[in-house]
Amino acid sequence: MAELVHGDSVIYLDNNATTRVAPEVVDVMLPLFSDLYGNASSMHTFGGQMIHLVNDARASVARLLGAQPEEIVFTSCGTESDSTAIFSAVETQPEKRHFITTRVEHPAVIALGNLLEKRGYEVTWLGVDSKGRLNLDELARSIRKDTALVSIMYANNETGTVFPIDDIARIVKERGALLHVDAVQAVGKEPIDLSKTPIDFLALSGHKLHAPKGIGVLYIRKGTRFRPFLRGGHQERGRRAGTENVPYIVGLGKACELAGSAMAQERTQVAALRDKLEKGLLAQISNAIVNGDVEHRLPNTSSIAFESVEGEAILLMLNEFGICASSGSACTSGSLEPSHVLRAMGVPFTYAHGSIRFSLSRYTTEAEIDKVLEVMPGVIKTLREISPFTRRG
Ligand code: PLP
Repeated sequence: MAELVHGDSVIYLDNNATTRVAPEVVDVMLPLFSDLYGNASSMHTFGGQMIHLVNDARASVARLLGAQPEEIVFTSCGTESDSTAIFSAVETQPEKRHFITTRVEHPAVIALGNLLEKRGYEVTWLGVDSKGRLNLDELARSIRKDTALVSIMYANNETGTVFPIDDIARIVKERGALLHVDAVQAVGKEPIDLSKTPIDFLALSGHKLHAPKGIGVLYIRKGTRFRPFLRGGHQERGRRAGTENVPYIVGLGKACELAGSAMAQERTQVAALRDKLEKGLLAQISNAIVNGDVEHRLPNTSSIAFESVEGEAILLMLNEFGICASSGSACTSGSLEPSHVLRAMGVPFTYAHGSIRFSLSRYTTEAEIDKVLEVMPGVIKTLREISPFTRRG
């Protein structure tokens, strides 16, 4: 096998794709892979003791979200949580054949909108303005008596734009529809209090907040009618069959504790580094614009469009310097089409093509940001010199 590139040797600014597992999280997980391997559903003490660890983790997740522990269901990832919420809402209300979502959702939700359309549902795809903002009057007008579900993300994975979820929840609930929120990018970065915001379903994913890949949560508000997606055993009180992934659940519980205790400080510290990076790049590089709503944005995300360059070419050159970033969502990079999010915002073609997303974390250092500021102007200059968009004669 080729030699692997290790995290310590790179400048990792791709935290919206995935995050480093926190060392504290690794510590609590390790014994669960060796000595403490019991099945949480077993009758004997050795296995049965695991359910206490699972429920402690459930309490930690609930605390971070302002939820009740019984409202937390562990899943395998954000995608499973999104699918489960959407299928549950349509299956429990077969008479309702209308679904509302936005044009800027993650593919985990867009794909289900497309699937429902194929199955004969009417889908309203809410657009956004040039800053990626929703029109809340349009949302209000779209909700009908036969709307089975409104599914709107908390924060956009590509631009970091944060939607006004409190207002959205109020509008949806006043009109009697169910609301699902894909909060995969928001949990751990934005303060969330589900005791105050009337959301019915909310999805999160462990690997976006320093827990491992392969663990997620679906929050289901008490009293919400629900149909499980995975059926079989009675785990998660019959709401998600399958043997509990105890190590990952415990890891996620720890990650939520860490996020809760450090969020206020991290938001300030990470945003300061993000702002330094963004201001520095805009000051040194002409014809560059920030994508998204800079007033309402995740503290760790900066999406910058550089005119007349290919995003993929920028990424390859940054890669040579050991700098990891993304040209859009991890799922759309690799395709040369501008992302669906930037297209929905109407970002001009020559800018959308050169959009780079930098996403920071609690582990990002000032020295790393300084290195990117040193390298980027040369990268853009080189690429513009050879760009077909700028070539003369
Ligand atoms: N929703 C959003 C907004 C995301 O950014 C992602 C992952 O990038 C997902 C859903 C999917 O989460 P997972 O990778 O855990 O399936």
